[in-house]
Amino acid sequence: MSAPLLQVENLVKHFPLHSGLFGRRAGAVRAVDGISFDLAAGETLALVGESGCGKSTAGRLVLRLIEPTSGAVRFEGQNLYALDDGAMRARRSALQIIFQDPYGSLNPRMTVGQMLAEPLALHGLALGRRKERVAELLGLVGLAPGHAQRYPHEFSGGQRQRIGIARALAVEPRLIVCDEPVSALDVSIQAQVVNLLQDLQQRLGLAYIFIAHDLAVVKHIAARVAVMYLGRIVELANKKELFARPRHPYTQALLSAIPVPDPDPDQARRRRRIILQGDVPSPIDPPSGCGFRTRCPYARPRCAAEAPPLDAVGGQGTNGREVAGHVVACHFWQEIGVAADTVPAAAETPPNPRLARLQAFFRPA
Ligand code: SF4
Repeated sequence: MSAPLLQVENLVKHFPLHSGLFGRRAGAVRAVDGISFDLAAGETLALVGESGCGKSTAGRLVLRLIEPTSGAVRFEGQNLYALDDGAMRARRSALQIIFQDPYGSLNPRMTVGQMLAEPLALHGLALGRRKERVAELLGLVGLAPGHAQRYPHEFSGGQRQRIGIARALAVEPRLIVCDEPVSALDVSIQAQVVNLLQDLQQRLGLAYIFIAHDLAVVKHIAARVAVMYLGRIVELANKKELFARPRHPYTQALLSAIPVPDPDPDQARRRRRIILQGDVPSPIDPPSGCGFRTRCPYARPRCAAEAPPLDAVGGQGTNGREVAGHVVACHFWQEIGVAADTVPAAAETPPNPRLARLQAFFRPA
């Protein structure tokens, strides 16, 4: 079996908090608190969780856009944090990012052609080849060569995200972190951009870390899904397994929020929305033991005393890779069972029109 493209090992990022006249250290925001995963070439891993769970920080750590508190990120076997500035610069072209807000990530004073040519120049592509490569990139993302002369404000939101994707592709990356790339777009445009990313992955062999809070989108693009809560991965499995047999109470709650379009009446009767009580605790002062215990309907005294380790449930990852099997961080996952066995009627499920429209769009005709 070939080595993974990316290995993330016990990655931690605590942002220090300072207070008072002398800026004394007064604690830390535990944004990422010891996560590990791997990613094969050409694979998509989704990082999913509510706002503030640390998924975007994890994406930036993987690209070494910020420095970690501890841990390692190995890309093609090389620890990125051990590289000096020059060696890291040379590595940058293989590691790119697509941002949530395409407008914010594009320079309004540059034409699209200038923006796409900029990374090509930085990576030493000859001037004569740049125009040709810009046209190639625009074609790859479904735009016309003439669009190179226009400015970002002349495009729609979906087209601007296509430009952001073209810019990430300019230097022929092998891994792209997609940081909520469709959440600022209209539902119909979201589907187009997701389809484009999938198409590019197949054509160019790209690996994606796809960051999202929307499980409906993740279902269509990810091979595996890691669910994050308060800076930790609480469950990781291949997509089919996670959606069919979620083991962690938090994953079960997230999945129960996805409406099923036109469910059969029997299935609908068995489904219910699991509504979590309270808010996500502050990452400055997380609960002892299991971070989810303040909202978990199954919490018991042991949950406050001991943090649950990631336990192997069994099953296999993409292409049968054992390394990517189903893992869950809960002391009682065996007793809790799978949500589908325990959930009551769908009549309790409040409709979510936005997600329903997205699901309807993705449904085969
Ligand atoms: Fe809930 Fe306890 Fe499991 Fe945490 S360890 S998810 S609090 S049952």
